[in-house]
Amino acid sequence: HYNFCAGPAALPAAVLERARDEMLDYRGRGLSVMEMSHRGEAFVAIAEQAEADLRELLAVPDNYHVLFTQGGASLQFSAVPYNLLGHGGRANFLHTGIWSKKAIAEARHLFGDVHVAASSEENGHSAVPRQEDIVLSDDAAYLHYTANETIGGLEFDYIPGSVEGGLRRSDGTEVPLVCDMSSSILSGPIDVSRFGVIYAGAQKNIGPAGLVVVIVRDDLLDRARADMPTLFGYRELAEAGSMINTPATYSWYLAGLVFDWLKGDIGGLASMDALNTRKASRLYAAIDNSALYANPVTLRNRSRMNVPFVLADPRLDRDFLAEAEAAGLLNLKGHRSVGGMRASLYNAVPEDAVEALIAFMADFEKRRG
Ligand code: PLP
Repeated sequence: HYNFCAGPAALPAAVLERARDEMLDYRGRGLSVMEMSHRGEAFVAIAEQAEADLRELLAVPDNYHVLFTQGGASLQFSAVPYNLLGHGGRANFLHTGIWSKKAIAEARHLFGDVHVAASSEENGHSAVPRQEDIVLSDDAAYLHYTANETIGGLEFDYIPGSVEGGLRRSDGTEVPLVCDMSSSILSGPIDVSRFGVIYAGAQKNIGPAGLVVVIVRDDLLDRARADMPTLFGYRELAEAGSMINTPATYSWYLAGLVFDWLKGDIGGLASMDALNTRKASRLYAAIDNSALYANPVTLRNRSRMNVPFVLADPRLDRDFLAEAEAAGLLNLKGHRSVGGMRASLYNAVPEDAVEALIAFMADFEKRRG
């Protein structure tokens, strides 16, 4: 079977096998990682190794903290404004689809006014706003965007701001860039130094749902609102080594196995990047060369991780899904809000899976198209 689920997504088979082998008795210690004290020597070693491996993979600069927190990426929709609006100012957003819209709605719900600095609503979210169309407000406290819209299959092909100067308000103040990288983190190398905050729910390219990784620049730890819940606090989390309370220990451990797999089995993020480009371009080529399937996103913003497509005749959707499932191709149904199909090609989805999907799609078109 091949699993194309958008989230929680497939984990690398090699990781699941290793977790199975170690599950009941972690390296001769006579207990499962699940049962370990988070403050004990064995778990602390697991946690520190996971952080070190993630830092190595993403080349995280020393002036950034890496946090392993909880509540899903959605809790960061609240935590980000609490952490960054303490000195006043307004949250600025790029609106590119359903996930950025949810982040906007939560900031508005909590703190009232927000500023949408650019939106792709006019083109039906088929192309991201151009850099020159981003207009920050004069009171911008930060700019939030969603690197990859998981539902629309729309991915940024650039990082907002200039390489040297970052993002600036009209008065010259630096505006930190905040990025929801839930569905694209670790799909390839990134320049972390361009960002103030990166956060990602784990359940696509990192590990099990619930865990969230936050990477935050040191100088942003003193901007929190006084009324912020303690557990949201980046400073509090950083000072406690992400252990203000009991962390999601087993998820953290599994994330560590995934980082180890990326380093060892895959050979790092440059190799992962090449693999992901190959997988996605094969599937998009198959879609573009068919008469039955279509994807509306402009070429340069097509997501490598989530490939939504529709059938020319939606009455065929049910049979397509049923036959795909019978052929071992799982979870191809599009998000309930948009319908159609979606193949998620996260890191753990092997090239064989993409080949099998393309062969199935061609065969289905020949028979039913
Ligand atoms: N942001 C993006 C880009 C997502 O794809 C998702 C989930 O699919 C979320 C946020 C929400 O994540 P969670 O369900 O962990 O809150």
